[in-house]
Amino acid sequence: MTVDGRTAVSFYLDDVGPYVTEFSKKGKPMHPVPVSALEEFAEFVKEQGLAGAVSVIPGLNCLLTEPKNDVERDYAKFVGRLSRYNLDAHMEIMTHGPLFDFDEMKPIEGTSEAEWLDDPNVSLEEYLRYFRNTIKVGRELGVTYTGLTTPGTHPNMNPNVWKALARLADEGEFPNPAVPVFAVIDESPPVMRPVLVARSGRGASYDMPSGVWDYIASWRNSPDWIDVDRYLTPQGKGRMADLIRNGSPTAIFHMHWQGLNPATGLGWPAFQELIRRLNDQFGDRIVWKRPSEIALEAYKSSDF
Ligand SMILES: [Zn+2]
Repeated sequence: MTVDGRTAVSFYLDDVGPYVTEFSKKGKPMHPVPVSALEEFAEFVKEQGLAGAVSVIPGLNCLLTEPKNDVERDYAKFVGRLSRYNLDAHMEIMTHGPLFDFDEMKPIEGTSEAEWLDDPNVSLEEYLRYFRNTIKVGRELGVTYTGLTTPGTHPNMNPNVWKALARLADEGEFPNPAVPVFAVIDESPPVMRPVLVARSGRGASYDMPSGVWDYIASWRNSPDWIDVDRYLTPQGKGRMADLIRNGSPTAIFHMHWQGLNPATGLGWPAFQELIRRLNDQFGDRIVWKRPSEIALEAYKSSDF
């Protein structure tokens, strides 16, 4: 529980980048989303006093450190400013797709980052090297990563991933000693809190699942996946309502840029409606926090 008994509410926004893929359409076409959409979202977060984490994926469908056009250039500039909007930057790893060769600065055909995170044969050193390199590319963009969001869900991630993150926190590669990780979605627990998974020196990594599936149009950007009632109905039911009423220390949800973005996402009005309902019904029982703040509080306090 937070110090004053309120539930800490936050979100992860995944797959953010200058292009989105229309998974629902044949041939999965990709189209650009102007950075003004990300700015609009960030302004809304600031205005409403919200807080959360946004994935910054330097090699998602392009290479932000080597932008080829204005859309990519605008994103490369804007991602360094996310912290001004009370938004953490999470690595959702370098490409969200194939593994990346940091010497050649290009993706490698074959294994995906998602498969690699689960591969039990990957060594601690290999994860350390890859994460360090991703953090370095982030720095070139003015981004200070505070945590990890995994591409896809990972209930059985290689334990070396957790160890590597704790080690990097101990080495000062993350700004805080506590590193939040979004790797799974779990709608079942009546209350949720960060779970310490690995320690290394003064560094620690925390499992901080999303408590509800993405019904803000999701990565499919589909109207079939819009359902604000899943979080909170006008009558005060739903997963977020349950967590808050149960006195859950945290209530974290997640969304995807494909469905959320104010330019082409079908979920933008749904997200705003969700915020309205949360404020109206639970404004005095919640406090918005960035995942890094939640993890740090858990790190410092034994009663979390
Ligand atoms: Zn993703």
